[in-house]
Amino acid sequence: MMSELLSLPYMQQFKCIADKCEDTCCQHWHVRIDKVHYKRMQEWVDDNPIQKQLFSESVLLNKSNIASDKSYAYIQMDKNGYCPYLNPEQQCTLHIKKGIEILSDICAFYPRIITEKNSLMEMGGALSCPEVVRLCLSADMDNHVLLSLDNSVLPDRENIPVHRSLFMDDNSPLYEKYFSKVQQTFIDIIKSGDCDYFTRLYILASYSHSISTIYFENCVTLDPDALENYRVHVFDSNYKQSVIHFMSQYENEQPLACIIIYSVLQLKQQQAPDEKLSVMVENVFEDYAKQLGFSSSTDVDNAADYSVVFQKRYQMFSNQVHHQVENYLTKYLLNCFYREWFITMPSAFIYIQMLLVRVAIIRFIIYSRVLPEMNTEEIKKISVEVIYQFARAVDHNLPFLQVVYEALNEQQMLHFDYSTPLIKF
Ligand code: SF4
Repeated sequence: MMSELLSLPYMQQFKCIADKCEDTCCQHWHVRIDKVHYKRMQEWVDDNPIQKQLFSESVLLNKSNIASDKSYAYIQMDKNGYCPYLNPEQQCTLHIKKGIEILSDICAFYPRIITEKNSLMEMGGALSCPEVVRLCLSADMDNHVLLSLDNSVLPDRENIPVHRSLFMDDNSPLYEKYFSKVQQTFIDIIKSGDCDYFTRLYILASYSHSISTIYFENCVTLDPDALENYRVHVFDSNYKQSVIHFMSQYENEQPLACIIIYSVLQLKQQQAPDEKLSVMVENVFEDYAKQLGFSSSTDVDNAADYSVVFQKRYQMFSNQVHHQVENYLTKYLLNCFYREWFITMPSAFIYIQMLLVRVAIIRFIIYSRVLPEMNTEEIKKISVEVIYQFARAVDHNLPFLQVVYEALNEQQMLHFDYSTPLIKF
């Protein structure tokens, strides 16, 4: 019997827009083929010499000793980085010729991301797909909750591919056992309608920092009441008022956020100079360098100078624009909380601090690309582009996130002292 499935409502509306998509997902990635579908492809191409040749050149067996049935083979992208099964209209020829049955689990289910806690499955969406980002940013805040899913909207498969699973019982490690409770608190904090975006981020950082003294990877004792008290505290109205007051008074004089943002984006440019995010960001820094009176960004010695340009730019926008962008960033964070599991990191605070860096970068790029005269739709279009390009280049690039984590850790920036300057800059 299939487990119960919950989903974010906007993912129930998802349909791949194929040739209408501004940027196919079938590029640059390592597309794994599970064993069942590798065999299905192999049987199909046996009768077709042209397909047989394409299959033998492009679908390669995973030679690793630790390859599982899930990653039995992979598709070798062509020299331009595109899937060899894409036609000139950016449609999948495998899908057209043989339907969804022949597609590997990854291809059939992308951009749906399914996780499982005990016998309950939850479906979120990968923000590397621009259509998912559009749906996510358009959904009302009330709809960013998990609801029971009508299974007929899912690709027809006997087994649903599960990205991560957790089976909890009394003997489970404490870090896993209390994961859902803390995850739900993150969601409730970021959704709080009675305080502004910066306040919610501060409460998130402060809560995750406080609980990390008693609740962390490999912790062997935990007082559940103490954990609950931290949760109760963050929703206390006096506490909230004090944070609202603190954040409204807080003037960030430090260029720290810009230096971190610049350093991470520079690492990205060095790692993948041709990636669309790298090109987008290069144009931003070139433009900022000109505003600083330099002929090129290579002449700017001090990344802190970019902060001056950013601040001037940020002040140009109306409260309406701030509200729109902060609403999008909130929905980005909610998507992350449902889909990503902080227990893959040593503590909830480290996950949040890394997330603060990510959301600071997205905010920086959006404000660097929108213009005060743009209308709501134009701002949305730019926000969609920034978020999906960022998700492709950073969020879904675990080796790169690891490099960022190590760099921040080495600079001792995974510390609460750096949270507020990263939040409000
Ligand atoms: S990125 Fe999304 S909408 Fe575009 S082709 Fe891929 S699944 Fe379809």
